[in-house]
Amino acid sequence: MTANGSVRVRFAPSPTGSLHIGSARTALFNYLFARHQGGTFVLRIEDTDLKRSLREHEHSITRDLRWLGLSADESPDAGGPFGPYRQSERVRLYEEGVQRLLREGHAYRCFCTQERLDALKDAQLARGDMPKYDGCCAALGLDEVERRLAAGEKATVRFRVPPGDVTYHDLIRGTLTFRSEVIGDFIVKRTDGGYSYNYAVVVDDLGMKITHVIRGEDHITNTARQLMLFRALGVEPPTYAHHSMILAPDGSKLSKRHGATSVGEFRDLGYLPEAVVNYLALLAWHPSDERELFRLDELVEAFTMERVSRSPAILDVDKLNWLNGVYIRGLAVEDLAERVELYLSEAGLVFQPVQREVVTAAIQTSLVTLEEAPKYAAVFADEPDVASSPLLAVLKAPGVADVFELLEEALAQFNGEYLTVEDGRAVMHLVAGACKQRGLKGKAIYMPLRVALTGRDQGPELFYLVAGLGRGRIQARLAAARRLLSAA
Ligand code: GLU
Repeated sequence: MTANGSVRVRFAPSPTGSLHIGSARTALFNYLFARHQGGTFVLRIEDTDLKRSLREHEHSITRDLRWLGLSADESPDAGGPFGPYRQSERVRLYEEGVQRLLREGHAYRCFCTQERLDALKDAQLARGDMPKYDGCCAALGLDEVERRLAAGEKATVRFRVPPGDVTYHDLIRGTLTFRSEVIGDFIVKRTDGGYSYNYAVVVDDLGMKITHVIRGEDHITNTARQLMLFRALGVEPPTYAHHSMILAPDGSKLSKRHGATSVGEFRDLGYLPEAVVNYLALLAWHPSDERELFRLDELVEAFTMERVSRSPAILDVDKLNWLNGVYIRGLAVEDLAERVELYLSEAGLVFQPVQREVVTAAIQTSLVTLEEAPKYAAVFADEPDVASSPLLAVLKAPGVADVFELLEEALAQFNGEYLTVEDGRAVMHLVAGACKQRGLKGKAIYMPLRVALTGRDQGPELFYLVAGLGRGRIQARLAAARRLLSAA
């Protein structure tokens, strides 16, 4: 904890690609942990791999985090008291730390060539040993080091791994111990002048006063090295919590072949951020009751690290789909209309304002994802071909011509090309009442009407169609159906 006792956590993505859902869950856990305790959520961009790190990836990660609602208190964009928040801009701090480690004897220059290191590794593997640096340069005298550096020899800086085990308490995994003898003296600064991940992270977590490091269990082996560095620098390390990874349904590592894996892909497929956040939280975090629906603010309130499970989380798209449907059904129609607009227009479906509301309300209960909107909305735009449809026979039921007439009469009592959902209901109410008086009912009325208006035997409730198809279309379709009837 910082001096004033508040929690500070960080999400530290490398901008080498788009935001993976596993990383999004790491961000979410950090966010929830910080917010639950009134702490600070820091976004740090780990762009030390200059070749693979791209600013456009950083932007897309930031955009995806914002889409999920996980905005950071301190970040490259927002700034903050412990910046800069991009590793590429923190080189001076890394160099200062390296100089200190060298001065205090916690690190040394290593002149071993890649050929020597490769040969060493091969020999160790051939003996069945774990590959590990043998400390060849650990005891070089200062004079020799100076002389070789002055002669232009390239050197790395290696951390001198201290003897003894490293033990720490992980908030999710309990007490863990690493044997330092399996860890060779590792590089903190490379010959190209770059700093290693394990080293830069420690300088940053220290400099940014991070109190809790919450990240995936793929980082556990790094933790031993990072703890050693903290101890060498004479400071208390943060508290660590390593959550499990998200696995594919077959238990393997989640990859492209299992479908969408990035937040952006899920967004494009039409998942709502509310559903993605809720879903990611439930993967490995268990609320104290059976409840499953949590919005972000509710998660903030309920989240505790004690309820995060150690076992791997299995991606279950059915569950995500279920949640997405629930959140879609819970949206105000106007809100849903905005969210499906792009999907509809990309499919060439552009609706008038009143019609847009009707269409959205009509498809709302059917949608699992926003991407499905065109599939369900098409009925409001497609031209039916009743004449060549096997459903033609349905039109031949007795009383059908009467029903058409009743619909036209009822419609005439309302204004406008498109009706509101409410007026659509009123029209169908009038039709139903009049049909009842004439002894016409049930399927005999509704199926022929549906077929005449859409050429289909399934789709949205008739009052939606009556409201959203448009007066002109309805009249034309009823007229066309009449012609078919009289031709029969
Ligand atoms: N930059 C690391 C990654 O993308 C995360 C480092 C950390 O959380 O310590 O996996």
